[in-house]
Amino acid sequence: MDLSFILNELGEDRENYFNAVSPPIVQSSNFAFKTITDLRLAMADEFGANLYSRGQNPTLTILRKKLAALDGAEDALLFNSGIGAISVSMLALLKAGDHVIAVKDPYSWTEKLFNDFLSKFNITTTFIDGADFSNFENAVLPQTRIIYLESPNTFTYQVQDIKKVAAFAKSRGIITMIDNSYCTPLFQKPIKMGIDLVAQSATKYIGGHSDITAGVLTGSRAMIKKIFDHEFMNLGPALSPHSAWLLLRGLRTLPLRLHRSFESTKIVTAWLSSHKAVQRVLWPFSADFDQTELAHEQMQGCGGLFSFILKDSSFAKIETFCNQLQHILIAVSWGGHESLVVPAIASIAEQDYSVVDDHHQLIRMYIGLEEPQYLIDDLTQALAKV
Ligand SMILES: *Cc1c(COP(=O)(O)O)cnc(C)c1O
Repeated sequence: MDLSFILNELGEDRENYFNAVSPPIVQSSNFAFKTITDLRLAMADEFGANLYSRGQNPTLTILRKKLAALDGAEDALLFNSGIGAISVSMLALLKAGDHVIAVKDPYSWTEKLFNDFLSKFNITTTFIDGADFSNFENAVLPQTRIIYLESPNTFTYQVQDIKKVAAFAKSRGIITMIDNSYCTPLFQKPIKMGIDLVAQSATKYIGGHSDITAGVLTGSRAMIKKIFDHEFMNLGPALSPHSAWLLLRGLRTLPLRLHRSFESTKIVTAWLSSHKAVQRVLWPFSADFDQTELAHEQMQGCGGLFSFILKDSSFAKIETFCNQLQHILIAVSWGGHESLVVPAIASIAEQDYSVVDDHHQLIRMYIGLEEPQYLIDDLTQALAKV
């Protein structure tokens, strides 16, 4: 389906709302019926009906159609956060005694989900280095139910061979799920590569303005409906109509924003790589990135999130550098209009810091929509202090 059609027309039924170009926010919790027969039909299939907004809502339906089409998926489900999409999916697909293979160091709350939450239900997880395909084969147990990917990772940028892992999982009857927040469907299409379920934090690039949290899950209609009918309706993670409307607005400019962030990141990472105070830049599309060939093979573009390591990488120097930035904000999240920095040391106590552990030294940066030179000037003055 044509990208412009999806973003500008698909799912929009303007004749039903005064030919308004911008769709209405249907701020209603419930929907009325003419007869009990009509009500009965809606109650029998809440997945396909506007009955109550913890389930479906017309503003969300427009968004749901667009997001499914962007992924090339049969259907989509919207959540009030990205982690909601991931957690609810896991609770829906796993049962006590099941086993998960997950890539190591996923998004922090995903890691906590496996380690602290699912473990309470006797669900075990093996974390593997997903860069080496044989690790997937070696980790499979008779009770392995899900292989969970995050490609690229959003701190180390490790990528997995998505097609190969998906084909392998299919041959063993294992469900595959990927966190595709980094690329969005514009830069990576996991369903076309054989993945069953795709989760995204729509808080990031899809929202794009740092004003809401949201999540999206795409997959086959049967799998999405199964998740909706039970865990989604029971746990209640529905997105609000107003947030859905903001995501619709975000989608209109997604290609522009994503390409701008990508292009500016090329400029800033190239500049940083050649700076005398910088030891290394980690970004999947950098020529010296370990897995850049695989990244180029399966990604049509690259997100604006990368990490780097200073040459003098003491705890104090990293902190000084970050504190010195005048325009680039110190904050978590990414994917908005504003450039951000967050160093690994923000979650490490000084006495636990190790200069030989690459992970400890990483400074993560996100490149937003500012002029690249404006960001380079800010980095220049901050790097001068270290
Ligand atoms: C932010 C993020 C999430 C979680 O999304 P929320 O919308 O914050 O719940 C999951 N995965 C990745 C890669 C993220 O960056």
